[in-house]
Amino acid sequence: MKPNELNEEFETVLLPAMALRGVTVFPNMSLHFEVERDISMRALEEAMEQGKRIFLVTQRNIAKSEVENGDLYEVGTISVIKQVLRLPGDNARVLAEGVARGRLLDLTQLSPYIQTEVQLLEEEKAPFHENVRTEAMLRSAIDLFQQYAEVSGKITPDVVLGVMAAEDLGWLADFVAQSIPLRYEDKQRVLEELNPERRLELVNEILAHEIQVLKIDQEVQAKVRERVNDSQKDYYLREQMKIIQEELGDGSGDDEIQEYADKIEKAKLPETVAEKLKKELGRMAKQPFGSAEAGVLRNYLDICLEIPWTTKTKERVNLDQARRLLDADHYGMEKVKERILEFLAVKKMAPDLKGQIICLVGPPGVGKTSIAASVAKALNRKMARVSLGGVRDEAEIRGHRKTYIGAMPGRIINAIVSAGSSNPLLLLDEVDKMSSDQRGDPSAALLEVLDAEQNSTFRDHFIEMPFDLSDVLFITTCNSLDTVSRPLLDRMEVIEVSSYTDEEKLQIARRHLLPKEMKRHGLTGSQLRMTDGAIRELISGYTRESGVRQLERELAALCRKAAMKIVSQEAKRVTVNGDQLEAMLGIRKYHPEKLESMPQVGVVNGLAWTSVGGEILEVEVAVMDGSGKVMPTGNLGDVMKESCQAAISYIRSNASVLGVKPDFHEKQDIHIHFPEGAVPKDGPSAGIAITTAIVSALTQTPVRRSIAMTGEVTIRGRVLPIGGLREKTMAAFRNGIHTVFIPEDNVKDLEEIDPTVRSGLHFVPVSHVNEVLAQALMGTEPVSEHHTEHNGTDADLIPPVQEETHIHSRISQ
Ligand code: ADP
Repeated sequence: MKPNELNEEFETVLLPAMALRGVTVFPNMSLHFEVERDISMRALEEAMEQGKRIFLVTQRNIAKSEVENGDLYEVGTISVIKQVLRLPGDNARVLAEGVARGRLLDLTQLSPYIQTEVQLLEEEKAPFHENVRTEAMLRSAIDLFQQYAEVSGKITPDVVLGVMAAEDLGWLADFVAQSIPLRYEDKQRVLEELNPERRLELVNEILAHEIQVLKIDQEVQAKVRERVNDSQKDYYLREQMKIIQEELGDGSGDDEIQEYADKIEKAKLPETVAEKLKKELGRMAKQPFGSAEAGVLRNYLDICLEIPWTTKTKERVNLDQARRLLDADHYGMEKVKERILEFLAVKKMAPDLKGQIICLVGPPGVGKTSIAASVAKALNRKMARVSLGGVRDEAEIRGHRKTYIGAMPGRIINAIVSAGSSNPLLLLDEVDKMSSDQRGDPSAALLEVLDAEQNSTFRDHFIEMPFDLSDVLFITTCNSLDTVSRPLLDRMEVIEVSSYTDEEKLQIARRHLLPKEMKRHGLTGSQLRMTDGAIRELISGYTRESGVRQLERELAALCRKAAMKIVSQEAKRVTVNGDQLEAMLGIRKYHPEKLESMPQVGVVNGLAWTSVGGEILEVEVAVMDGSGKVMPTGNLGDVMKESCQAAISYIRSNASVLGVKPDFHEKQDIHIHFPEGAVPKDGPSAGIAITTAIVSALTQTPVRRSIAMTGEVTIRGRVLPIGGLREKTMAAFRNGIHTVFIPEDNVKDLEEIDPTVRSGLHFVPVSHVNEVLAQALMGTEPVSEHHTEHNGTDADLIPPVQEETHIHSRISQ
């Protein structure tokens, strides 16, 4: 048989062959490939000479360069060379087009080129009647291919169009196999399948598999890309940060972590605390430098490292020294000092007795803080103040969790930090000004702080570790006990610090405040002198208070003026007497309340107790024709309005005895007014003053001059005790009152009253309002010097204490 000649009987032909590595040529498809091997180049040349026909068959093992028997697959493609492009170095680029499948029967020669005997393979024909099936197969194959094209994203539109236009199963299978990147083994399987239907099925199978593989591959790729992107971004940002830090001369994050580690190591921390801080530091090290989370942790570490976990001052209890310190800093206050010393004595006797809490009660500026400071000094403890006024959120005591923006420890831990020792004296200021709302009850948290049973493991939300408060000495202060919660009050030992008389204020100013202010302003004793008259004038004309805060400020103002004069060489020394005050401090701010010089109808002096001390509180009553309306005015609270009603009821039920027209409550309107309407007033203690004023107005009887009164009245006329007697009587004294009506049950309190006031006033104890009316209204029996009038100094006249319910709760009017 001659080369290239068809043996008709067996349909075999002798053809030059080319062994393909990794590519497969399908019938009716063109393919470009490059030729390199000598043996292939020779076959190409031979083919070009013999009518361009060549048998293209794939090599089983593509790594092999020599071709031997058995190295080639059995099925290949009889093809036509369409184009040969010579490339430098004896290579060529070939365009071949497959014509038909052929079976390799024999390798007739292996060199210089391979020659093969090839049998033409006919494609099996699809049965004619199965058109519908063909159609269905085509559609599903096209569908699958589209999916593949979508997933792969690398198929050119003309291939897609080619597939969609396909009508022949076998051709479609070949076209798909040729057009997509498949392993050459798979392509070979497609090539070897002569039944078009099965061939397409095979291609479909391969496609489905490929789609799956591609999908998984893409997922993996996406993940990898994401990770690479993230870490690249991270890396990029970190590098940038480093450069910025270098430029700014900051230390790097690593240095910072090391710094903290050193600090934790050096700070004397309890083991559990050190562990916890190391853990948080570890978390911080994992955060990108400068991230918000790292900021939170840095803040946390800073604060925890500031806390004096183990720093303590050595406590000493020396009563003599304590007494000296208290005396040196405070004038008077004998009772308070005594109580404090008792407290210290107990501390000395039983050092392990924990949980004693002092509560100092009194108006502002009476020296509560400064007493606490002296106690701290005497015990060699540091002191810090915790202001609780207006605290309404539990978190203010216990702190916020550190993850909140701007989170901070609570006030207790903050105070410990500012004290700098773990056994300071904490002054809890204004415990009566705490309030609770839906954000939790701060007084409950405070209870835990003060409770000796619980406070050794006090937990602050921010710190997240227990802190031992059992060595802390707590002193609380408040202005009044009325609003302090009961459980809190039960835990405390109450010491009352009362307001000062003008005489005491004079002494405090002379001995303490003035020297203190002069020192602060750099003035020596000879540079500024103040007469007692000047100080008295300062107290009465420029201050109105129970304590001495305002007085202290006014003295400071005087010192400034004096310093100014001396510095500007206007004077070498300044002596201030009463007359010069106006020139230095401006006109006086307060004037003594002017008492009416003539007896008045319907006007009575009541006495009130406010946070700035006692005051005269006038009651005015006007009666006019009307229909029996009662109008209490002057910014009154409910209790005070009820006092007015009670007074009316008493008068109605005793109208004939009192000489009042019995139908007054139908024909007359009664207006009860308390001047200074801007000041809120409340409390029951104006009862007798109101009753007296109404009776005076209804009977048109004037009230005696220079008397004042205080006491609650029941509707049967009984007079009940009141609170704040000391302050009230002081106000009466200051305002030139001579006689004060007080409830009989308050007589025992006269002992507490300042001696100057006691000797300057007449006290008339009363148990029934009739006694008041009888003595206060003109034209009735006058106040008798010998039988009803009590001089407070006269101990014989003070009756024994009676068992009575004492109402102390609503005392301010
Ligand atoms: P509080 O805490 O009761 O409001 P402070 O302790 O702040 O009052 O007192 C205000 C000022 O008055 C302080 O400078 C204090 O030293 C001074 N002070 C108060 N009472 C006396 C006193 N009895 N003797 C000396 N100074 C006093």
